[in-house]
Amino acid sequence: MRKMSRESFQAGVVGQRWLTGHVFEISFERPRGFSFIPGQKVSLTIDDITRQYTLINQPDASKLTICVGHVPDGRLTPLLARARPGEIVILSAAAGFFIYQSLGRKAVFVATGTGIAPFLAFIRNGVRDFCCLQGAINERELLYRDEVEQAAGEYIPCLSAPESNGPFWNGRVTSYLEQRLAKERYDFYLCGNVDMIRDAIRIIDQHFPGSRVFMETFF
Ligand SMILES: Cc1cc2nc3c(=O)[nH]c(=O)nc-3n(C[C@H](O)[C@H](O)[C@H](O)COP(=O)(O)OP(=O)(O)OC[C@H]3O[C@@H](n4cnc5c(N)ncnc54)[C@H](O)[C@@H]3O)c2cc1C
Repeated sequence: MRKMSRESFQAGVVGQRWLTGHVFEISFERPRGFSFIPGQKVSLTIDDITRQYTLINQPDASKLTICVGHVPDGRLTPLLARARPGEIVILSAAAGFFIYQSLGRKAVFVATGTGIAPFLAFIRNGVRDFCCLQGAINERELLYRDEVEQAAGEYIPCLSAPESNGPFWNGRVTSYLEQRLAKERYDFYLCGNVDMIRDAIRIIDQHFPGSRVFMETFF
């Protein structure tokens, strides 16, 4: 698809796949000249409605993919959920600074819901040996669990309303941080909603002094 200006591109939808009852992946043709660093986001526009999404594919993949939580009364996600192959969207150039940096400390990735997106991009670009706390309501909502678990040195699913017994932390990612994570200095990468990020920062300040924090707030 073609480049429209320095900052925006037209891209056609090439496919869509539901991961759970309310989360889907949608892919677009990769516009010529489009490049990104894993962890970056794009602004996506349909009918003058613009929202931001993090790219989850490998940087050299032939298509661009995002993972979207369907908000039934939202403005853009219902349009994306109904989009058909060939439909055209407008994408901005990739932007953002939520990028993995190997700075010598153990990295702890903390994700809730679709906040796993930038970590998938890191993983698909070869990042390994991290600890990941992945938060969800129940097992079925642990998006991309197998891929994340395989890549992680340590993987902790944190379930706030589990439907079975199993090897997981029964509670939120923030209660695991507060009660269980060994008290060391880490590089924390946080991605999810504002409440989780606010609580996590308070806990990190209190229990993990000297740690570095990188964050991306989705809503
Ligand atoms: C930097 C950045 C990166 C983002 N990356 C992603 C991504 O990779 N995947 C993704 O799904 N979203 C991502 N978002 C959120 C996304 O931009 C939209 O806010 C979201 O898709 C809702 O859009 P909407 O127009 O359908 O809802 P809106 O009309 O904007 O909002 C309707 C209501 O839904 C709430 N809401 C917004 N987002 C969510 C959500 N994800 N889950 C539940 N409730 C929500 C809002 O608080 C509001 O009350 C990102 C946001 C930012 C700022």
